[in-house]
Amino acid sequence: MDATTVTVTGAGGQIGYALLFRIAAGAMLGPDHPVRLRLLEIPQGLKSAEGAALELQDCAFPLLTDVEITDDPRVAFDGANIAMLVGARPRGAGMERADLLAANAGIFGPQGAALNEVAAADIRVVVVGNPANTNALIAAAAAPDIPGERFAALTRLDHDRALAQLAAALEAPVASLRGVAIWGNHSATQFPDVAHASVEGRPVLDALAEKLGGADAAASWLDDVFVPRVAGRGAEIISVRGSSSAASAANAAISHVHDLVHGTANEWTSAAVLSHGEYGVPAGLYSSAPVTSDGTAFRVVEGLDLDARGRARLDVSVAELVAERDAVRALGVI
Ligand code: NDP
Repeated sequence: MDATTVTVTGAGGQIGYALLFRIAAGAMLGPDHPVRLRLLEIPQGLKSAEGAALELQDCAFPLLTDVEITDDPRVAFDGANIAMLVGARPRGAGMERADLLAANAGIFGPQGAALNEVAAADIRVVVVGNPANTNALIAAAAAPDIPGERFAALTRLDHDRALAQLAAALEAPVASLRGVAIWGNHSATQFPDVAHASVEGRPVLDALAEKLGGADAAASWLDDVFVPRVAGRGAEIISVRGSSSAASAANAAISHVHDLVHGTANEWTSAAVLSHGEYGVPAGLYSSAPVTSDGTAFRVVEGLDLDARGRARLDVSVAELVAERDAVRALGVI
């Protein structure tokens, strides 16, 4: 079997360090699937990426055919089948949103252009670096020859956080849950939705009502505990751990690509994919939704009813995505 070329940007960072070894061990593409790693870093990050590469060598992974490190996107993405865009400009103290978007446009625009020029014909891209949805929009806009459906932003960590919180509240195994969804932006406005979820085949809303003493108590728990807990989990991890989540973000990125390339059967997961207008989300935005994969692309699960509460929450998150898109447009980036 030919090796799949996987390019990881920001490979010298925390998430990169948690990501590379599992990819090389076969956790993402499969236990029989050889992989070639390309690590992209900015010059200040190269030493850290080189250190990770030395450790990768010391693992003697049977599936890892080679590792290349570079600060040139055209080298990093040459022949890439999968690109995991992790490196991004973090929000500095006092930084306005427009400054953050401009800084990231300077990263994701050139990366999109390089992908357009040199990536393999079957390239799939997942954006992890924040603001992930809009960074995906910027990269896709700079890659006019790559279908926009090949890009996605990661909301799988939000999805997994929602599963875990729900499992804990219901005292049920994670594996017994189906139909959880994350809608909108990968930000505090995201909408973790359990309206269509089931636990061991039974509606989650019924199970929560039984557990918590009625439908009103279940609705309050969802609004006052569940949604803020999931949406604010990143900040909670930082306050407890002293630095942002890395292993769980890496795990989610691996699960995203795994499910994309292996397919999900009829199971849902969540990803921020190119909108074609589904659920009233303006076409062209990268907005999270429940998705399935047939092994080639994620597709939005259609035909779900959003109640007034869900509609209002999705509208708030989409308004934020529209504002980010408009700010990037005003910068002349897209
Ligand atoms: P991390 O590896 O911890 O995070 C990288 C990015 O992932 C950040 O934008 C971070 O956003 C984002 N992210 C998305 N979801 C999550 C999540 N759930 N938890 C935590 N982070 C999340 O950052 P490091 O600073 O350790 O490493 C970044 C590396 O990227 C550095 O080595 C730097 O040199 C490199 N870099 C590379 C570039 C390139 O290749 N061209 C460009 C810019 C940087 P948030 O900040 O919001 O937490």
